[in-house]
Amino acid sequence: MAATEAHGIVIAGGGICGLATALALPGIPSLVLEKSRTLRAEGGGIGVQANGWRALEQLGVAQDLRETAQLITSYRDVWLQEDKSTQEDEYPVRTELRCLNRKDLIEALAKDKPAGTIRYGCQIAAIHEDPGSHGALLTMADGTTIKAKVLIGCEGTYSVVAEYLGLAPARTIPRPVLRGFTTYPHGHHFKNEFLRLRVGEFFIGRLTITDTLVHFFVTMPTPATELTRDLKKVRDLALEDMVRLRCPAEIVDMVRDADPETLNLVTRLWYRPPWEAAFAGFKKGTVTVAGDAMHAMGPFIGQGGSAGLEDAVVLARALARVVGGDGEARQEMEMEMEMETKMVGEAIGEYIRERRLRVLLLSLESFIVGVLLVRSPAPVVKLACVALLILLGTRSLRHANYDCGRL
Ligand SMILES: Cc1cc2nc3c(=O)[nH]c(=O)nc-3n(C[C@H](O)[C@H](O)[C@H](O)COP(=O)(O)OP(=O)(O)OC[C@H]3O[C@@H](n4cnc5c(N)ncnc54)[C@H](O)[C@@H]3O)c2cc1C
Repeated sequence: MAATEAHGIVIAGGGICGLATALALPGIPSLVLEKSRTLRAEGGGIGVQANGWRALEQLGVAQDLRETAQLITSYRDVWLQEDKSTQEDEYPVRTELRCLNRKDLIEALAKDKPAGTIRYGCQIAAIHEDPGSHGALLTMADGTTIKAKVLIGCEGTYSVVAEYLGLAPARTIPRPVLRGFTTYPHGHHFKNEFLRLRVGEFFIGRLTITDTLVHFFVTMPTPATELTRDLKKVRDLALEDMVRLRCPAEIVDMVRDADPETLNLVTRLWYRPPWEAAFAGFKKGTVTVAGDAMHAMGPFIGQGGSAGLEDAVVLARALARVVGGDGEARQEMEMEMEMETKMVGEAIGEYIRERRLRVLLLSLESFIVGVLLVRSPAPVVKLACVALLILLGTRSLRHANYDCGRL
């Protein structure tokens, strides 16, 4: 049987949040365990608002990424009614918003990592407390074991670390979303906008990336169980309904002409209700969670990825105070292990205190928008939801004003 490896900081999951956390810990060695065999860079576009860009600046990757995507300057909401009339509302985006290709984001976060930092094909199957270090003992799917002094769960919505911390599984909304990119070799001539179109039970979005590239999503009413795994057939099924519902031709053409290899289907949307964000224990000893593992919030306000980037900066800043930066000074102090564990535990506590309200407000806002979009609530509930969204400053994107601070 292979000997148990021992590591300092282990990050579970090499998605947006896990890679950002490793990047935010310069000079502090960490090991990222990713279950995929390669960098997981599929998944379409991702809208990044000003708060996300602030975090990306701290991570040193904002400038290069800005060159890949133009500014989106307005929102346009269009609702095609059953009587064929159209309601339209357009308003400016007064903060930085760009739609990145998720592949570009993931590659930028993974770039220049010291060799061996990301270990692919490593699926964590179970976690137990390591009584020796108050950290964790990880059992991998292949039966090998790894000891972690500090464990950060960034494995998204199916998080083994969240389960170890006693968090309830994230909840699901069974709404398939087809995503993709469409290239217009001669230019698309659309405004640089985020168009949101409601027609029947379809909710369709289009975000411009460059003069020749757009990202789109189509939220479909069809139950996922009725969809095949063949994404071109799923697209054709969506197109059939879109034509029947008299979707504008430019939208139908965009979906029909999508680059087939960029099509991607999410069969359900994941979220943690806001009350869990308010009360859940996100820490046990030196084990914690970040990103969707902590606060899955669905795509409704386009903040899940940016919130994960903020987590990375805040957590790394707290940990760096006790684990790194002045590594030499720390060695000189020959800190007792127990003392070190206590300090790391306190740093994680500080991280959770700093993130709690932010994550609660984002989860609440996303939850309310989700209720309005998915559940068609009774008029009185609808009124209460709209009032809460006004208080939260949803339309003016108040959530994008947040600054996670410096590393
Ligand atoms: C349709 C849709 C649209 C969205 N649009 C936006 C948007 O516009 N803007 C925005 O900010 N957010 C958006 N989001 C949310 C955003 O995608 C997520 O919040 C973000 O991807 C979460 O990043 P993460 O790193 O926490 O988790 P993930 O991206 O899920 O990464 C988790 C990683 O952990 C790995 N992993 C899982 N289990 C294990 C295990 N047991 N062992 C080892 N590795 C494991 C996975 O392979 C994966 O690589 C959207 C989400 C959806 C579904």
